[in-house]
Parts: sequence; structure tokens; C-alpha cells
Amino acid sequence: PSCEFLIGYFVSRQNFQHVQTFPKGDFLAVDLGGSQFRALEVKVFNDGKQSSQLESKFYPTPKEVIQGSGTELFNYVADCLLDFMESKNLQHKKLPLGFTFSFPCKQTKLEEGALLAWTKHFKVRGVQGTDVVSSLRKALQKHKDIDVDVLAMVNDTVGTMMTCGYDDPHCEVGLIIGTGTNACYMEEMRHIDLVEGDEGRMCINTEWGAFGDDGALDDLRTEFDRELDLGSLNPGKQLFEKMISSLYLGELVRLILLKMTKEGLLFNGKVSTALLTKDKIEMKHVCAMEKYKEGLSNTKEILTELNLFPSEEDCIAVQHVCTIVSFRSANLCAAALAAILTRLRENKKVLRLRTTVGIDGGLYKTHPQYPKRLHKVVRRLVPNCDVRFLLSQSGSAKGAAMVTAVAYRLAAQRKQIDAVLAPFLLSLDTLREVKNKMRAELEYGLKRETQASATVKMLPTYVCGTPDGTESGKFLALDLGGTNFRVLLVKIRSGRRRSVQMYNKIFAIPLEIMQGTGEELFDHIVQCIADFLEYMGIKGARLPLGFTFSFPCRQASIDKGTLVGWTKGFKATDCEGEDVVDMLREAIRRRNEFDLDIVAVVNDTVGTMMTCGYEDPNCEIGLIAGTGSNVCYMEDMKNIEIVEGNEGKMCINTEWGGFGDNGCIDNIRTKYDIQVDEGSLNAGKQRYEKMTSGMYLGEIVRQILIDLTKQGLLFRGQISESLRKRGIFETKFLSQIESDRLALLQVRRILQQLGLDSTCEDSIIVKEVCGAVSRRAAQLCGAGLAAIVEKKRENRGVEHLQITVGVDGTLYKLHPHFSRVLQETVRELAPQCDVTFMLSEDGSGKGAALITAVAKRLHNIGRK
Ligand code: ADP
Ligand code: MG
Repeated sequence: PSCEFLIGYFVSRQNFQHVQTFPKGDFLAVDLGGSQFRALEVKVFNDGKQSSQLESKFYPTPKEVIQGSGTELFNYVADCLLDFMESKNLQHKKLPLGFTFSFPCKQTKLEEGALLAWTKHFKVRGVQGTDVVSSLRKALQKHKDIDVDVLAMVNDTVGTMMTCGYDDPHCEVGLIIGTGTNACYMEEMRHIDLVEGDEGRMCINTEWGAFGDDGALDDLRTEFDRELDLGSLNPGKQLFEKMISSLYLGELVRLILLKMTKEGLLFNGKVSTALLTKDKIEMKHVCAMEKYKEGLSNTKEILTELNLFPSEEDCIAVQHVCTIVSFRSANLCAAALAAILTRLRENKKVLRLRTTVGIDGGLYKTHPQYPKRLHKVVRRLVPNCDVRFLLSQSGSAKGAAMVTAVAYRLAAQRKQIDAVLAPFLLSLDTLREVKNKMRAELEYGLKRETQASATVKMLPTYVCGTPDGTESGKFLALDLGGTNFRVLLVKIRSGRRRSVQMYNKIFAIPLEIMQGTGEELFDHIVQCIADFLEYMGIKGARLPLGFTFSFPCRQASIDKGTLVGWTKGFKATDCEGEDVVDMLREAIRRRNEFDLDIVAVVNDTVGTMMTCGYEDPNCEIGLIAGTGSNVCYMEDMKNIEIVEGNEGKMCINTEWGGFGDNGCIDNIRTKYDIQVDEGSLNAGKQRYEKMTSGMYLGEIVRQILIDLTKQGLLFRGQISESLRKRGIFETKFLSQIESDRLALLQVRRILQQLGLDSTCEDSIIVKEVCGAVSRRAAQLCGAGLAAIVEKKRENRGVEHLQITVGVDGTLYKLHPHFSRVLQETVRELAPQCDVTFMLSEDGSGKGAALITAVAKRLHNIGRK
């Protein structure tokens, strides 16, 4: 059977559960596909408790219209609607309209649906395979004096479920037993292969009327079913429906009575013309004949009207036939419904399912015994489901207006959300511009005249060579610059069995020390070193030490580094402008317990590059995407004007985090970036870093969430205490929320843990916000990296460059999409470079030791 999708239903479903957010207003609907055509006006109020008011008018559906041409049909629908609007004085209002269209359609959007096939008593030329919504729109446009906007197309089953869901939030099945039969239910998105996305649920219109069209019911179908089918408008189609729905029940009874009469079992074997006439017995007759008390006298009356002369026994027999036919219908329907209920129960993985089925349709509503029989059989078939059957009052028609109301509000919301996130969508041209600007800043930083005022500082590191494998020995390394401070002992073995062994200990740096005095900070560092030496039992050894210090430092040699300015979370006093190696030496002296041989001060990017360079000699770039964002690369000495000498290469620590501090990328900074900047320790500084690194992404998300909440688009418009807390939304939550494997409910749980009481609808929006922020970060980072690899390519003067980038940083390593988007952007913006990304295993620790080893080796050579 074909399936129809109501996109976004899950989202809208939430609205039914929140009284405040249900959209009020005036909505129109037309209902085509049942026994009668109907136009409706539904007013939704919002006066404390929600209520709705419905007015409608029925119109005939003459055979010329429902078995004529498509244009005629839609013109007729439009004419009726016009008449209805005139009678209600609605012509001069712009009104949204929902279209209940109860035939199998393939929907890719809420407001679009291609008819798969006509069913029931409809057979209109030139409609099959076309979009019925646009046909209706076209017909409506011919009437200049009405302004109607068709926002949603809804199947009657879905309309029924929606209407019942308005009263009972457990309603997740819609069932029609009327002219035709059909059902819809809420299916898990992860089970719907045809629609992208794994989150939440979507309503599936089963179109179960077509069950059996492949022969599956052949064992159950009788000669009467076959005969009825052959005489129908759509032979071979809708075989299940033809055993169940009201359009066919009377005819089945007639065919049975005819055969029985011909065999002499009824009416003394006398057949009347009426009994020979197709569709002479209708569902209303069957209902009347099965009535509890008057049934028998009704039967007599009806048969007499058919010019048959029934005896008392004939009447009882005919009644029995009616019961058999309608009971079979209820049984089959119950069996199919039981299949859906079982599916729901399994989807939810519960032992007992509690659920509500919304029902509409003339057979169910008017047949005296039908509901009772159906309920009983369902309970027998699925004893582990507690089912509430909720009769929907004109649900099939009203539901369209309900869906429209929600679609209307969602469309308005969508516009607002899109507007908020639009500045985060960067076009390829914009990214190219960022790359070009970065490229220009790299040059300023290298040139003597411009270097002092450059925002990308291009700091020489005095690291001139990568390891050659001959390094060996024991080294200490310190790693300061991010979330933690670490002390490491690194043992490097050279030769054929070359290896690196590391032992390390992590120490937290309390906030009051990060932002206290410089002396306190360095005393604390030395305290940690003392702990570590004690712990390793090497207090007496005077080991060479490499200090990974991941802040911008101006170096005059490998073991001297003047802090240019704190970044990230640090702001200790009396450090900026001072040599960090001197400060460390002094702190060691103050403690007067041990001595260390400080050989090198190293940036983490450089350490990362060195570590990867140890494995892959082609690695000449080091990238960090962690708490902060930075890059280093090997530059030709001749291009580094501020360092003497033109031979060989030296590693440049770009400190690209400061890119944009001169305002050159202000055109892409959003108001949220500005808010994050203003709330940071170093306002106005590190603008690029603040758009790309772990310390800030969560905070950008938080600012957007606050804004969306203010606009009433999230968290029911309530800005909670927790949302006000700076830093509450950590970047690791972006990684969790954006993970493809995470179901929406889990996202909701994360938000709830953060004290953000969210609906599933909120969760979808939050996830979208996280995606926009992290994607932009990765793209901007990729644009910057493209500038670097392009520069390296031009330095080498080659058409095609093959190069390896060593990468470290938790954002890069753990975010589910960051690394992929970054790589894609580099590929797009630097097509002539073939870039390999190599993850560094603990680059900043191992790298510091390697640099120390190299420096030691070169130093020793110098001494010899
Ligand atoms: P460093 O502080 O030296 O840069 P890391 O590379 O480990 O250290 O980066 C830590 C930063 O990464 C944290 O400050 C945080 O912003 C971010 N982060 C932590 N966990 C995750 C995660 N799961 N996904 C993305 N980013 C994360
Ligand atoms: Mg680090």
C-alpha cells in the first residue's frame, strides 16, 4: 500500500498539548472524499481555555462532477467555497485554508500531494499523478474577490486523529469507517526510510483499503466479493475496503440475497427487478434491518419496497445475511487495527499500551451494533492494549482546519527562526572573502613595517627543524593553556626501535589562580611540578624541560617567550609583557627545592605539528581546535622579515585567533558574537577565535536561545534562571545534541538537565541552532586553513601541493561534524592542495618533549 506523509505533524502535535501556544484565529476547510462535500469555517479561541467553533455547509457531489474532468471538479469546489464564504460574509478576509482530501496521495510537503489513484465513487479524468493542492489553488485564483491561502492538505484519517488529539493527547491513531475505510498512526521517524531524519514521529496514512490488492486476501474473498469488485469503478483495487466500507456493504448483501433467491432459498425463488439492480440495497438499509427492536419490521418494509414478498422466515434470514456481512466488516477492521496497535506497542517497547483511537465515518457512527462489535474484537485480539475509542465530531473535516492553524503558526515561526539563523549561513563567496582577508593578514604579520600593528601576529618560534628520529632521552614537559594543566615525563628512544613513552598527571587550575596574580599562578605551577616529581620519584634528576604555553608569545629564541596578551580563560596580573620562562625560573627559585633545565617554550600548535612531523615528514602545519583556535606552519626564512637570515625555514605561530580584531570580518559577525565578546575576559580581542573555538560556541548558542525565547519561539517564552547563566551551555553539549545517533528525547533530556524545560519542538529548534553555530565555526576555520595551505603552495611554487596538517583539540576530535565540514571547506576553497589531516595523539605534551630534544641536540652540536 502506498503511504502518505504529513510532514511536521510531530512538531505540530506538541502544540495541542500546550494551551497557551495553540494558535487562535479563523480558518477555512473543504472536505472532499466522503459521501458529501463540505465547506467549513473553524474559529479557534484562546480565552484562557481553548475552544473552537465550527460552522459548515454541505454541498451535493453530483455524478457529473465526481466522474467528470479535473478542471470541472476543482472549479466546482472553488464555486462552493465562494458560495460558503459569501453566506458567511467572509469574502474580503485573507484566510488560510486546509484541504481534506481523502484519497491516496503521495505527499512530500504538507501543502502538496500527488493523487495516486481515485477510490470509492470518484473517477475524475486528468487528476491522477498531479498535485491536487495546486489544482485547487488555480481554481480559487479565478475568483478575484476571495483571497484564500491553501496551507495544508490532509487525509481524513489524519484530520480525525488531529481533532481527537486536541481533546485527548494519547490519540495516535485515526480510523475511518465510512464510505471508504482507512487508518493512520504515528510512526517512529527512524522506521520511515522514505523520509530523512530520525527524530520524533510522523503520521503515516496507511491507505489500508488497498490491502489485498496483491492477492493477500484471496483466501478470504468470496464469490460475492469478486462479483462486487468486477462491477466497481476500480476493479482489482481497494479489495480490503470493498469488504468493509459502507459504499459496498449494501451491495454485498444484495448479491448474496440474489443468489439465495435464485437458488430458491428466499422469496419463493422470485427475483424482482429491484433486486437485480446494482446498488439498490444501501448501507442505510443494512443498518435499519439490523436495528435491535424494529429490525425485523424494518426488514419487511425494505424488502417490500424492493418488490419482494418476504415471509417472516425470509425476513429473519435476510437480517442474518446483513449481520454476517457487517460483522465480517467489523472483524476485518478490528484485525487491521490490532496490527497497528501491536506495532505501536512494539515501537514504544512497553508491555501494556495505553492509547486512543480517533474514529470518524458513517458506518461506525450510524450502524447500531458496529462499534460494540469492533471494540470487543479489538480487545480480544490485543489484550495487552488498553484502547480508548474516541468518536470525532466531524473530525475528518475539522482536522484540516486544525492542521492549517498549526501550519500557519509554524510557517510564521519558521520565518522568524530562519531570520535569526540567516547570518550564520555563509555563502561560498563569503568564505572565499574570509580566506583572502586571512591571507592578507598573514602577510602583514610577516612584514617588518606592518608587523607591529598586525592582528594576526605571526610569531617566530625559533623552531627550525622537525625531529629526525635521532632524538632520545628523558624529558619533562608542561602543558598550560587550556582547560587543564599537565605535567609529563616523556621518554624518547631513538634508533630502530624508536618510541615515545609518556607519564602524565593532570592538575586543575582554580579560577582564582587563572585570574589572580602572576606570582600565584607560577607558584601553583611549580607546586604541581613538585607533586609530579614526587609522584614519579625523580625529584633529584635535573631533566631538560619543554614548556607548552599556548598563548601568544613573542620569542627571541627558543627558550625565551614574552607573553603578548592572555587569551581564553586566563587573566593573571603582571604577566603580559614578561618572559614566561623567567617567571617560571623565578618561581622554581622561590620554592628552592629542585632545579630544572628549561630548554624550550612551545606553543601547542607547534607541539602538535612536531608530534605529527615525527610520524609524517610532510606535516608542516599544526592546527588546534580546542578551547581556543590557532595554527602554526613552517615558513621560509626569507619571508620572515623580523628574523635575521634567509636560509631554511622557521615555524611561525600565526595566533590567528586575533584575526578580525581590526574589524576586517565585522561584516560576518552577528549580534550574538558581539554579545559573547562583550561578556568575555578580553572584549574586542580574538574575534575569529570567538567564532570558532570550544570556549565560545556554546555561549553563542546560549545567546541565540535567549533571543529566540524572547521572541516567544522557545521554552514557551520563559527565560529560565539557568538560561541566564553564562557558560551553562558548554560546547560539549553541542556535540551531544548534534550527534546523529541521538534521538530527540535524549536531546530533550540534555536540555532538561541544563534546567531548560523543553518540549520536543524546542529540542528540534535547539538542535538547529547548535548546527548553525558549529557549522559556521568549522567553515570559518576551514577558510583560514585554506589561506595557509594556499600560501604554502605558493611558497613552494608548485601547481599542486601535498601537505599534512597535524591537528589537536577536543572540538575537532569529538564534535560529530566539525572535522568533516572543516575538511570540505578546505577542499572547496583550496582545490589545488591535497591536504591530509592527521590527528595528533597528545601533541602538546609529546611535541614539547620532541622540541626540547631537538633543541638539546642542536644545542649540543653547537657546543661541540
Ligand atoms: P585545550 O584546552 O588544550 O584546547 P582541548 O583540546 O581538550 O584542550 O579542548 C577543550 C575544549 O574543548 C573545552 O574547553 C571545550 O570547549 C571543548 N570541548 C570539550 N568537550 C567537547 C566535546 N565533547 N565536543 C566539542 N567540544 C568539546
Ligand atoms: Mg591543548
